[in-house]
Amino acid sequence: MSRKVHRTEVCADCSASDPGWTSINRGVLICDECCSVHRSLGRHISIVKHLRHSGWPPTLLQMVQTLASNGANSIWEHSLLDPAQVQSGRRKPNPQDKIHPTKSEFIRSKYQMLSFVHKLPCRDDDGVTTKDLSKQLHSSVRTGSLETCLRLLSLGAQANFFHPEKGTTPLHVAAKAGQVLQAELLVVYGADPGAPDINGRTPMDYARQAGHVELAERLVECQYELTDRLAFYLCGRRPDHKNGHYIIPQMADSLDLSELAKAAKKKLQALNNRLFEELAMDVYDEVDRRENDAVWLTTQNHSTLVTERSAVPFLPVNPEYSATRNQGRQKLARFNAREFATLIIDILSDAKRRQQGKGLSSPTGERNSSLGLGADDDQHDYDSVASDEDTDSELTTQNNNNTQRNNRAKVRGDTAGQPRSVHYMGRSSEEEGRGEAEEGGGGEAGEPDPTLPCTEDVILKTEQVTKNIQELLRAAQEFKHESFVPCSEKIHSAVTEMASLFPKRPALDAVHCSLRLLASSASRLQVECRKAAPSDLSSPAVDYQLLTQQVIQCAYDIAKAAKQLVTITTREKKQ
Ligand SMILES: [Zn+2]
Repeated sequence: MSRKVHRTEVCADCSASDPGWTSINRGVLICDECCSVHRSLGRHISIVKHLRHSGWPPTLLQMVQTLASNGANSIWEHSLLDPAQVQSGRRKPNPQDKIHPTKSEFIRSKYQMLSFVHKLPCRDDDGVTTKDLSKQLHSSVRTGSLETCLRLLSLGAQANFFHPEKGTTPLHVAAKAGQVLQAELLVVYGADPGAPDINGRTPMDYARQAGHVELAERLVECQYELTDRLAFYLCGRRPDHKNGHYIIPQMADSLDLSELAKAAKKKLQALNNRLFEELAMDVYDEVDRRENDAVWLTTQNHSTLVTERSAVPFLPVNPEYSATRNQGRQKLARFNAREFATLIIDILSDAKRRQQGKGLSSPTGERNSSLGLGADDDQHDYDSVASDEDTDSELTTQNNNNTQRNNRAKVRGDTAGQPRSVHYMGRSSEEEGRGEAEEGGGGEAGEPDPTLPCTEDVILKTEQVTKNIQELLRAAQEFKHESFVPCSEKIHSAVTEMASLFPKRPALDAVHCSLRLLASSASRLQVECRKAAPSDLSSPAVDYQLLTQQVIQCAYDIAKAAKQLVTITTREKKQ
């Protein structure tokens, strides 16, 4: 991704030079350290993307860069610029300040509590203020001033506001005026490209009629953002939206027609549209988390990666969602590469089926049922995952609440039925093995295990594994498919060495599970990599994009398992 180099670019939060990441909804550039704090707050607070290593729709990148270079950061630091505040001792962190607590506390106040945003004088009726702000937004999006609109949104203007006199939403106005970057900003804040005006016409219709063809096409993409992103994650391709709106990748060797898989698929089909949409959005968030993790894995130093404490091992709590839904979201992190791919393929197939209106006649008993087998028996299983999360985090303004809520395609259909929380137990087969506290959360009960190897050895071996994985990821990025097999052999032997440190039958369940994930992922990585080098010319053509995604995901599973072993060993040896 080409990018103009501005010598003056610094991190919006700590002023470190050459920031590599952006927060899309805040319109700022941030450094690696600050980004790790942003990620830990969750996408409802900050949506991050890497400037060079993430995939970007060109106009979205342009929108963020415009905001950043026009000083959008001053919106979030308004009162810090006030001399009275400076005297009170409030100050921004320096690049040299510690990430915890200095930088992380500042970032929380700045974006989560919105402590430094310009506060409006209090009104008796908040509804009036929101309506006024939304009307201002409705007229401002006609102009090119992105900062004005971001400021209005930060104060609580609604991106989907339906103007009662004009009969349109702000996105209709931006589309008609051909304001591409305003449209990007509105969509990030949840504007719906398919919203009807008073005559039933959408922003896409407005753009087309005004002759803004590219904007109209971009809005169609935004409409299908959710399913496009899932497809792209799996196979590196998106639909062109001219010959169809869905690509459903096939995993040729995984026609898993076991009774368990069939039952899980049936349950997915039986979900009402509301629950299905929630599940799809949660999977979208998990895809985003995994993609950012993969970028993190490629861009960081291998030895820092092994010991750092700033990882985001599962989706952070979103206080807008029920506790059960948050727990279900966190469970998604436990899916290995293959299970996650299967879930995505099932969701894509079902999204297509639902949009085409070919509803299954589901037995009434299964309406509103959870996606899961025996989920009720497993309720306690959630606890260890969620226990160390900060469930008390509060959103302070309406603004945060509407961020990105609609920035994914709606899965069309009626949304009848009361929502209940969705469980994801259905796809977690026990074969790959994973257990309590594997994410490093929650303590293990009982005695320290004397058979565990010493922490330094585990760290050394993990560094070796991580280094080899980074080599493989670089090969994948550079399309060097011939390097896959040698890289996977190296990883496999590093993994074997690492596993040999541990006893054959470890006392701790978590160690057992991590070792199994480590070994099974390393074997599967070898199998996948060998597909990149077909043995004879008569073999069927290889889908390198799909294959590369699976290779990356296996590598990611290995890195995760190794990191878990470091975490567990460190914790146990401290006891
Ligand atoms: Zn920073």
